[in-house]
Amino acid sequence: MFSGGPISTMDASTPGPEVVVVQGETIVAVGARALLERYPDTPTVDLAGRTLLPGFIDAHNHLSIAALHPRFGEATAVADRDALVAAVRAQAAAEPEADWVRLWGWGQNGPGYAPLRADLDAAEIDRPIVLAHSSLHQCVVSSAALDRLGIGRSTPDPQGGEIAHDPDGTPNGLLVERAWSDAHAQSMAAYADPDRWADHVATRARLLLRDGVVAVHDAACSPQAEAVYHRLARTGDLPVSVLVMPHSARLLTNDLGGRLDGATTGDGDHRVRVGPVKLFADGGIAIALDVHVGGRRMRYGSVMDDLGGAALRAARAGFRIAVHAMGNLGVDHATTAFTRVRQALGDGDHRFRLEHAGVTTPASWRALADLDAVAVVQPGFVEHVGIQSGGVVFDDAHWLAFSGLADAGVVIAGSSDDPCAPYPPLWCARLGESRATSSGISFEPDQRVDLDDWLRAYTLGAAFAGGQEHERGRLAPGLRADFVVLDRGGPEPRVAQTWIAGQLVHDAP
Ligand SMILES: [Zn+2]
Repeated sequence: MFSGGPISTMDASTPGPEVVVVQGETIVAVGARALLERYPDTPTVDLAGRTLLPGFIDAHNHLSIAALHPRFGEATAVADRDALVAAVRAQAAAEPEADWVRLWGWGQNGPGYAPLRADLDAAEIDRPIVLAHSSLHQCVVSSAALDRLGIGRSTPDPQGGEIAHDPDGTPNGLLVERAWSDAHAQSMAAYADPDRWADHVATRARLLLRDGVVAVHDAACSPQAEAVYHRLARTGDLPVSVLVMPHSARLLTNDLGGRLDGATTGDGDHRVRVGPVKLFADGGIAIALDVHVGGRRMRYGSVMDDLGGAALRAARAGFRIAVHAMGNLGVDHATTAFTRVRQALGDGDHRFRLEHAGVTTPASWRALADLDAVAVVQPGFVEHVGIQSGGVVFDDAHWLAFSGLADAGVVIAGSSDDPCAPYPPLWCARLGESRATSSGISFEPDQRVDLDDWLRAYTLGAAFAGGQEHERGRLAPGLRADFVVLDRGGPEPRVAQTWIAGQLVHDAP
């Protein structure tokens, strides 16, 4: 049992208890010190003044993709063609068996270098080359890759994607949004060996423990990645719990194919459970916006017009729905799809999830609240979105409107979008509280949310987003004994310990 420090249960029915009693993997009692007499044989853990709270749940994390990063070439700091050529050649040598040469990390807040096909061709490698953008929403490919993908001068843009061209009409290698789905799937195929992939997932997941993360929602989980999680769970080698959000291996598409016939939302156990399917309303780079800046209308991007049908098919097949939406038009498009599902299937508990909620309006906050939707947000986005926005705000919409959503009654769930942004929950929460970027931009400070509300979003809110509020996210009898011990004594709170199923899995020095 745990005592000797503040206990934050995230449960209004048991505020301020003195002890939490654990037996096996489960919490059996929460309450006053007198409980100690009822459980005389339970070993005691002294919190030594530190705070006990439920373990963090990262409700939007691409663990199965991030896990493979050590095997991809890293191009985060690449700032010119020579450095890129060197990185491509190093990767080709490091992974000689891989069909594609895959690198990642271009973009976000890195150097302003924007490579194209010719830069990759300069490496003179005979295999196709793909350089994935750090957002996982676009890439640059080599000429050999364009050939492999069957993309030529006359290839039309896919709906929701763009094949970029040189002035003379030749594809220049930049594939935006859905134009990169096939390049992603084909270049990932060489890394799908279940044994090695499982080892990488376990290694990456152990890192998460140091930051108090005990569970993740894998926010675009291919069928192959789902199989890897099940394999790890079977052998007892999965360090964190995973809620898989089924998606095609072709990232960003709304076509779930045969997966709709498989296990549905809620199936599984506390280690690996099926969550909502992941669908897309708009892009991550080409976000669908219609806003005003300084009185001038600004329109950008487009919505994915196959969302409504895909959402309805998935809901009818027994799945809950999570929709990526970044721009305000994307958010409205997602809200329309949720409304159609509710009209078709009735007023039950749909637990609709809006992933990101990048740009929203007061009207969309109310619409989401009316739908009882959950906003799965990323406070860490304050850093890179804040920097990219250059401090420009809209007349009629808000970036990352954490307080707007919460005050309208929308449950917010905390998450990172790792590897598209850093994952440590306390680092992310700090940004969601300060709304200040490292470059000194104060990014819509009115949309700040306090640290304690972020702790709730990373526990109770994220468990609710996953439909797992009866299993985790609070400290209450019958729930998982997954904890974070938080040291709030210093200038910044830090994770002192992480516990899973009543076992200490991380103890900070
Ligand atoms: Zn994501």
